[in-house]
This record gives sequence, structure tokens and C-alpha cells, in this order.
Amino acid sequence: MKIHEYQAREILQDFDVPIPAGKVAETPSQAREVAEQLGGTVWAVKAQVHAGGRGKGGGVKLARNLEQVEELAKTMIGMRLVTKQTGSDGALVSKVLIQQGVNIVSEYYVGFLIDRANQSPVLLASSEGGMEIEKVAADFPEKIVKEYIDSSVGLTKEQAKDVVVKLNMDEKVREKAEKVLLGLWKAFKEKDCSLLEINPLIVTKEGEVFPLDAKMTFDDNALYRHPELEVLIDPSQEDETELKAHEAGLPYIQLDGNIACLVNGAGLAMATMDTIKLFGGEPANFLDIGGGASVEKVTAAFEIMLSKPEVKVILVNIFGGIMKCDTIAEGIVEACKVVSLTVPLVVRMKGTHEDLGKQILKESGLPIITAETLGEAALKAVSLAKEQ
Ligand code: GDP
Ligand code: MN
Repeated sequence: MKIHEYQAREILQDFDVPIPAGKVAETPSQAREVAEQLGGTVWAVKAQVHAGGRGKGGGVKLARNLEQVEELAKTMIGMRLVTKQTGSDGALVSKVLIQQGVNIVSEYYVGFLIDRANQSPVLLASSEGGMEIEKVAADFPEKIVKEYIDSSVGLTKEQAKDVVVKLNMDEKVREKAEKVLLGLWKAFKEKDCSLLEINPLIVTKEGEVFPLDAKMTFDDNALYRHPELEVLIDPSQEDETELKAHEAGLPYIQLDGNIACLVNGAGLAMATMDTIKLFGGEPANFLDIGGGASVEKVTAAFEIMLSKPEVKVILVNIFGGIMKCDTIAEGIVEACKVVSLTVPLVVRMKGTHEDLGKQILKESGLPIITAETLGEAALKAVSLAKEQ
């Protein structure tokens, strides 16, 4: 789960991480009022969307008077901001953060995330702040400091000190920077983040160390212990189809392709998507119907898949273990009574009650294309998608 920068700033404050003065606004006149309250002569007007790269996409602009604040807020609020991370549709801006201008002396990158290979959290830091970290990693890998964190101990003061020295920060601000790193770590750990990225972390002319941006992503599997975070969800930033699927209790991820997949088991779903790609096709989604799918769930899954005009073929791949093939077959037949099947349907099922399942599909009279192996099913789906 992702949250907005203005929300992340509030969480960071709870962990004693200092942030530059600022407040969120929902209308241009509110933006002006906020700027007036903040005082000063320069303000940053920042579009609040769940995506990075806002600066380059025109979502972060500086205003030098109150009229400009209002003007910028007016152009941003209501627009769909397109950045490198949003896709061509962009993301709706419904709020802007008005932040008091700061005198930046230097910019750094700081990110806490989970390193799967090392099975631990890791602190990534770089003196090349404000740039895309992926670019720094590709062009100057030596400029990235990597500090693995023992999660039973946490980020130690020594480690924080070491990182700050390696970043070559001015001696005068080192202590402050260490405190910021320790505060960020605490927030990352206690809020069960999968990512906490500060780009840039800045040092100001006045000798302050501030996160000037904050991207916070939480581990969805830990949300049950954070009711305070669940209320921060902004549905306008979520994919509509994914929201619908989650409401139906289906683990679903929207993708760009045209072959919709209905599979039982996350591993089999991944293998199905891989096989589609192997034959030159593109999956439209990840969908794990699970072990105990009911007819209602299968129907909901079909409705969701068929609601996307991009979908040219549906591929059902079932391994009958706990899930019995006849249950799924009944589900498919029932679903096709409720929703009209507008695209070809390829079904491959193996395992428990396989023969019964196949018989149900055959007797239904539905124009279902069957396949014996995953390879055959994927190949058929890919060629059908190309014909449409
Ligand atoms: P992102 O592009 O989505 O990562 O958005 P950021 O919050 O990182 O803003 C992009 C860039 O705008 C930053 O790297 C800064 O260089 C600049 N920026 C943001 N806020 C301010 C500010 O208050 N003052 C100044 N001078 N620059 C800012
Ligand atoms: Mn940034």
C-alpha cells in the first residue's frame, strides 16, 4: 500500500524526523492561504500522487509570490499528472502540498528497503541525491552506499555514523543526519514499510537536514496490525479493476497485456504468465483464484476480466488439488450464464476430478477451447490473441 508525500511527512514527524514546514491544500484558494500562513518568499507547490518523477513531469514547481502559488495549484489540481512511473494515463491530482522554500546546499538519496537476496532490510544511500537512483546505480555503482541491517538489532548508531561519513557530509551536520537516519529506520521498522525512500535528503544553508520528499510503501501483509494506516488509502490513486477485485476477495494485479489469466495458486499463476510470455504473448493480469473458489468468486473473476476491453482471450489454468476440477468447471459454466463470453476461452485443467470437469465443460455447449498441457494452452491463447 502506498501513501502520499503529505501523509508520509506526518508519520515521519511522529518519529522525530524534522521536515520543512508545509501543509496540504485541496483548492487553489486554500493553497494560497496555506502559503500565507507559512510565510516566506518562496514556496514549492507539489502535486500529490502515488508516483515518483513528479519534478520532471511538471508536478513540482516553485512559486515566488502568493498569486503564483494559487495559479500553480489551479493548474495542478484536477490534472492527470503523467510521470515515468504513472503510465500514459497519468494519476489524478486532487491535492497539492505547499511547502516553504528551502535553501538547498546539497542533496542526498536515502532509501530503506528489503533486500530479498540478503533476507534483511538494507539502507541505500548516495551523495547523488535528486537524481534517479536507478541511473546512479547503473552509471556510478561506486556512489551507492549499502548498509545491511540486522532486523533483530536494528540500524545501530555506528552504522548511521558510518553511512554519514561515507556520504561525505559536512562535519557540522553529521550528528543531525545520523539522527535523521535513525528516525527513518524507526519509522520503517515500526510501520512495517517495504520501502521508505527519501530523495532528496537535503542539507540547507542554515545547517538543517531535511527529507524534502518522502515515498512510503507498506507491506500489505502487515496492514492488519496498522488500522491507523488503512485509513490513509486513497482510492483515486488505485487501479479501479484492482480495487474491484480486492473487494471480491481476489488477489489480482492489473498488467498491460491482452491475455487474461485465471489460475489457482500464485506459483502456477506466475508460471502461466511466464509461459504466455515465452510464446510471445502478454498477460493482462495476475489472478489467483485460490484453493476454495466458489462459483460466485469464479463469476466475479470472469466479470472483472471481461470488463477490460483490452482482453482478447481468457486462459484458465487449473491444477486440481484441494480445488476440484469439476467445481471450477461448474463455476465457469455458471459464470458464462451471467456474463456473456465475448472472447475465446482456453481451458486447461489437470488433477482431481479432471474427467468430470472436462465432461461438464463439454456438455455445457460453450465454445471452450481445451488444452492438455500448459504449453499447449499458452500457445493457443497467444495465437488467438494475435488473430483478434
Ligand atoms: P519527485 O520528482 O516525485 O521525486 O518529487 P520531489 O519531491 O523529489 O521533487 C523534485 C525536485 O524538486 C527535488 O529533487 C528538488 O530538487 C526540487 N524541490 C522540491 N521541493 C523543493 C523546495 O522546496 N525548494 C527547492 N528549491 N527545490 C525543491
Ligand atoms: Mn523525489
